[in-house]
Amino acid sequence: MNQPIRDKYLVFAAPAIEEPEINEVLDSLRSGWLGTGPKVAKFEEMFRQYIGSKYAMAVNSCTAGLHLSMLVAGLGQGDEVITTPMTFCSTVNSIIHTGATPVLVDCDRDTMLIDPQRIEEAITPRTKAILPVHLYGRPCEMDAIIYIADRHHLLLIEDAAHAIESVYKGRKIGNIGHLTAFSFYVTKNVITGEGGMVTTNNPDFADKIKVFALHGMSKDAWKRFSDKGYKHYQVVYPGFKYNMMDLQAAIGLHQMARVGENLKRRNEIWQMYNEAFADLPIGLPAPDESETVHARHLYTLMIDKDRCGISRDEFMQKLHQMNIGTGVHYIAVHLHPYYRDHFGYKPEDFPNATWISDRTVSIPLSPKLKDSDVTYIIQSVRNVLC
Ligand SMILES: *Cc1c(COP(=O)(O)O)cnc(C)c1O
Repeated sequence: MNQPIRDKYLVFAAPAIEEPEINEVLDSLRSGWLGTGPKVAKFEEMFRQYIGSKYAMAVNSCTAGLHLSMLVAGLGQGDEVITTPMTFCSTVNSIIHTGATPVLVDCDRDTMLIDPQRIEEAITPRTKAILPVHLYGRPCEMDAIIYIADRHHLLLIEDAAHAIESVYKGRKIGNIGHLTAFSFYVTKNVITGEGGMVTTNNPDFADKIKVFALHGMSKDAWKRFSDKGYKHYQVVYPGFKYNMMDLQAAIGLHQMARVGENLKRRNEIWQMYNEAFADLPIGLPAPDESETVHARHLYTLMIDKDRCGISRDEFMQKLHQMNIGTGVHYIAVHLHPYYRDHFGYKPEDFPNATWISDRTVSIPLSPKLKDSDVTYIIQSVRNVLC
């Protein structure tokens, strides 16, 4: 190892926050309007236009968005929702919180996305919805999934936490399934600190999400604090406290303005990694499908001890010693104690997800990275593996 260690720790997925966001937050603070107000409305409209959907409803997380999507679609006790084990726990938790039962089916080993063939095999009379996850920003095989959903009259609710920019064969993610949930958590491609958005083309779902997200107060409650004077509200459902604040939307407005620019930068870094690692004994992201846009949310390496001489965890430790932060996305759902014990899952039930889970490691891909940072990461990865 003949490379000096950099002084400053390279935080994994550091957010790129710039002056316009900072000034917009200050403006909210000075105005005194911190909660849900005009900036949330503006952010929703901006996002809606970007996706091209009929409706976009801001919430305070993607998890909240997934939960509400399933509730307004009528899912609950006795229903089954098919999803992937290769995802963040919140995908599955939000199913459980509706009272429905998550049914996991294995993913493809190369794309790491839910395998449509296995969805078909898992359908029972209780199946009500499919919940695909566009993992790392790569769109799922939507043609096959839509075909299955249509044939079996299933709802299609998408976890697009990684997929704000994703396009599947010319169709924007967020404008395909019945409901789609996005995340603006600090590590995601567009951030508001905490935050999420649901898009849909169904006016009934859109109205209900608004109501359910704010205590179940009647539709107009969202407009209650306007200059039109005081209005009584009525509670029509025991709702949730899932609304987004103007303080959060203030950040999101300017993040959205740079979404294209940031994707360009992520793409550059992605290509640099692809070229630099092509000769290493590791797995790299699968090539893109034609006519699709990958949102470049996470760049992941597959570290197999038999091929590399070191394990994934040892690799992460070595990069940590070189002041580079990494992440694991994810330890598959079925390997966590709660789901394992509660649903009786075994590692071999989902062999591809288990295989990925043991090997995957994400390296930094923030648009904040300078070329010198990228070069340093590339050199460090090569030093550790060569
Ligand atoms: C981050 C993430 C979520 C949850 O997003 P929050 O906004 O933090 O609730 C859900 N699914 C996936 C795949 C994620 O990565």
